Amino acid sequence: MKNKMLINLASIVFAGSVTVAVSAPPDWSYEEEPYWGALEDATQPVPLSYPYAECNLGKHQSPVDLADEKIVKSRSLNRLAVQYGTDMPSFINTGHAIQVNISQNFRGGLKVGKELLPLTQLHFHEPSEHVFGNKKFPAELHFVHVSRDGKIAVLAVMINIGKENTVFQTILDNMPYRSGEENSTARVWLKLKKLLPSGVSTNNLKYLTLAGSLTTPPCSEGVQWYILKESITISEAQLEYMKTFYSNNARSTQDLNERSILSN
Ligand SMILES: [Zn+2]
Repeated sequence: MKNKMLINLASIVFAGSVTVAVSAPPDWSYEEEPYWGALEDATQPVPLSYPYAECNLGKHQSPVDLADEKIVKSRSLNRLAVQYGTDMPSFINTGHAIQVNISQNFRGGLKVGKELLPLTQLHFHEPSEHVFGNKKFPAELHFVHVSRDGKIAVLAVMINIGKENTVFQTILDNMPYRSGEENSTARVWLKLKKLLPSGVSTNNLKYLTLAGSLTTPPCSEGVQWYILKESITISEAQLEYMKTFYSNNARSTQDLNERSILSN
């Protein structure tokens, strides 16, 4: 009996793997945002044919409105520290954002309590995705960290207009113009710490935190967000230059549902 069940199970798994092998996630755009969950992968049977369903069905989606009155002070939050240093990354135009892919041998990351989550990439949105009541920032930077067991933590930094940021300029100068293109031969060192607010204690950052999701399809949940309370600046000219790559690449705010936004 047991053997027969195992054989049946094996045939189901085998049948499943045949169809999964040809999966091709559908293209998406910000114009289609209300329907991301309904975009179909024509190569797949139902329910796999809706690979972005979580965008519409998820209850812990990002970004959200971080209005003051929703924020709860907590004394028991983990200490948050960054160990960024310098890296020789590659520069990628993803088709939806400008992105910096951190090199394989980079050892830094985000330290949440005692756990270090390696930094894998950073990218930019214009305008900001998170909003603060009726305030929006001109842009937002996301540092994406992935632990060895697949946990994702994003450190978000709001961007204001002001003094030019030289590291951001290096990113713009090395970014390929064509969608989907990667520049992996720039061989420039980036001082990643310079993309953090000046004067903050990188050993003990002030932040807001909540459980959320990726803000682009497939909108997967289980992402822990850390939003810095201090912002950085880029110049007006830098913002305008960035908009020649992508503009309005920001998802609208999502319902908080039963989540809490905690602050240290
Ligand atoms: Zn992002």
